[in-house]
Amino acid sequence: MERVLVIGAFGQLGSELTDELRKLYGEQNVIASDLTVAKAQAERGPFEQLDVLDRERLGQIVEKHKITQIYNLAAILSSIGESKPGIAWNVNMNGLVNVLELAREKNLNKIYWPSSIAVFGPDTPKVMTPQETVMNPTTMYGVNKLAGEKLCQYYFQKFGVDVRSVRYPGLVGYKAMPGGGTTDYAVDIYFKAKQGEEFNCFLDKGTVLPMMYMEDAIRGTIQLMESPAEQVKIRTSYNLAGMSFAPEEIGESIQKIIPDFKMVYKPDHRQAIAESWPDSIDDQFARAHWNWAPKFDLDAMTKDILEHI
Ligand code: NAD
Repeated sequence: MERVLVIGAFGQLGSELTDELRKLYGEQNVIASDLTVAKAQAERGPFEQLDVLDRERLGQIVEKHKITQIYNLAAILSSIGESKPGIAWNVNMNGLVNVLELAREKNLNKIYWPSSIAVFGPDTPKVMTPQETVMNPTTMYGVNKLAGEKLCQYYFQKFGVDVRSVRYPGLVGYKAMPGGGTTDYAVDIYFKAKQGEEFNCFLDKGTVLPMMYMEDAIRGTIQLMESPAEQVKIRTSYNLAGMSFAPEEIGESIQKIIPDFKMVYKPDHRQAIAESWPDSIDDQFARAHWNWAPKFDLDAMTKDILEHI
């Protein structure tokens, strides 16, 4: 029987992924953990307060709950990472090292750790960015993710730790708010549209980025983690694609349902980060190795979100 620990479980991704993992493995077999735990989250299933940098407590929780798999989602994201690079390095790198070391010591079955399209940089080919290409990230977050990918591959090759990863594009969901990334606008825009308010976009017109609906991201993550180990041939991190759009395109998609929706553009420091990232991603290896295929395009995502919020 699998016993799963989710670290950083109450963030944008973790909130939804934890619920899905509980459906798969049973509520009592998935332990949520984060720096702080709100009452509503604590009521959804077992949890532990945990700072991923606290190696001793991490080890105690793994022992106490007889954990067999860890999903390490604890991270400082791209935008916040630029204002707090030292903290980003510490959490993003030392947190991962703690989890990988524990996996090695305790012989855990599997580890999941997400990477990001932030591993790419301004000199990476922008359209249909290949799996293997020039990678010179210009953000602290991107540097962390690239180093993290290499670290995962090292622990797999050297110690046989079964660690798996995907490079998420910007994730768009409506159940939990985003945590300080460069693609957060694509979540806020739906709430403003629904409230009948004008949306002030922090990215400029024409800034195309790879994005993915949360439902696809979660399905893909679980699909990767449930695949037989021999199908997981890439042990850095898999390119994963959903859709690509610029701010005005998401605006137009919303206007098909809310015709009087209006947006204005006031690019800030996040514009430079966005411009250093790809427009679209070639995910042929995820498709070939473990049958990945996204289900949502932009209009399907817009319809689903506006129906639910
Ligand atoms: P988030 O910021 O919403 O959530 C991260 C969670 O980690 C938060 O709940 C936070 O409290 C927790 N955390 C921070 N420091 C911690 C620490 N020291 N110990 C324990 N927990 C800590 O981020 P998210 O969007 O849910 O991202 C989850 C993962 O997916 C991250 O690795 C992120 O880099 C990756 N990712 C996200 C996106 C996206 O668009 N959201 C895109 C690419 C990759």
